Amino acid sequence: GGDEFAVLVCELRDQQSVRDIAEELLGELGRPHAVGEAELQLDASIGVALAPMHGDNGVALLQRADIAMEAAKDARSGVEIYDPSRGTHDGSHLELLADLRRAIDGDELSVVYQPKANLRTLDVRGAEALLRWEHATRGRVPPGDFIPIAERTGLIHALTRWVLRTVVTQQQQWRARGLDLEVAVNLSPRNLLDGALPDEVAALLREHRVPARLLRLEITESSLIVDPGRAEAILAELHGLGISLSIDDFGTGYSSLAHLLRLPVDEIKVDRSFVSGLLARRSEAAIVEATVDLGRRLGITVTAEGVEDLATWAKLAELGCDLGQGYWLARPMDAGALERWLENVRTGRAESTAGAFGSPVGRA
Ligand code: C2E
Ligand code: MG
Ligand code: MG
Repeated sequence: GGDEFAVLVCELRDQQSVRDIAEELLGELGRPHAVGEAELQLDASIGVALAPMHGDNGVALLQRADIAMEAAKDARSGVEIYDPSRGTHDGSHLELLADLRRAIDGDELSVVYQPKANLRTLDVRGAEALLRWEHATRGRVPPGDFIPIAERTGLIHALTRWVLRTVVTQQQQWRARGLDLEVAVNLSPRNLLDGALPDEVAALLREHRVPARLLRLEITESSLIVDPGRAEAILAELHGLGISLSIDDFGTGYSSLAHLLRLPVDEIKVDRSFVSGLLARRSEAAIVEATVDLGRRLGITVTAEGVEDLATWAKLAELGCDLGQGYWLARPMDAGALERWLENVRTGRAESTAGAFGSPVGRA
């Protein structure tokens, strides 16, 4: 996973000897390392699973080692050995983590799509894929509750791959019916530490005969914090394939503007927090205006996220913002509903709030 490593230890005497080995590893990692001019000190968390007690195959052992690692991170204890008794039933997010792992292989996950459109002409310019989890007993779990947990372990890699595969498969089906729609997939910061990602995405597109220009990836500013050099190299590779890149939640991070704008991005998405305050507060309007100006000078599309009403939509159009996305245009919907929505837009049948704005965009 780029920042995760596995150690296989054979012929252990007892649990204490595996603890000793783990402590020794932590001790070695914690010593200052010279990297060029700099001195780095690393911090790690280790989770241990034992065979055959905790599993008799590689997959089960890795999953349990991952859960133990998560417990070690929580407890800041350095090392934890998998404990089946509290492992997944303490009501904490460890339980959610174990459920999510099962959900990826099961049928609890799905993707919904939210379109975005030109603010003036209302031409639809693509859609964003958003992950949904319908938990068997808890009901719908919002992405904001489970993605950060997946992000803390290697599970985010499997989750991202699942979303990418679902989206590209859907695009292949749409294309067979004559619909070429650009879809944006959200990446997590950890995905940009994963050097295998570009090749996998390329293979996925090839397998489904979907052109790279129909795939867009959204990254946030925080993706660049851990290892900017590696993240930039991976983004350059993805861009080289012909995939488009966007900066999501623009304005909420702490990265330097110069740094951000060196990336091969062609869209910035102004965070909802600025858009929702647009009509009420001058400071928000100033931020949106400045971003629009920046985008224009750099030839980058500026998209407003979370536009909930017509007045805000019209104000954004007046400010020169390019695209809008939000409940006013359409809520996120499943693939079938999006197809019908697009068809309504095309034939101009829909009577709608958007219709009041002088255009035939339907509301789902
Ligand atoms: P995001 O990428 O900024 O996505 C936009 C969020 O705003 C979505 O929330 C969407 O449903 C919501 N939204 C859209 N229009 C409006 C509006 O008019 N008003 C309001 N109040 N909200 C609006 P959602 O689907 O709950 O996703 C939340 C976040 O979770 C996303 O923010 C993204 O950061 C993350 N996420 C969702 N799906 C994925 C995924 O497949 N992978 C990763 N890594 N992250 C994901
Ligand atoms: Mg997004
Ligand atoms: Mg966003």
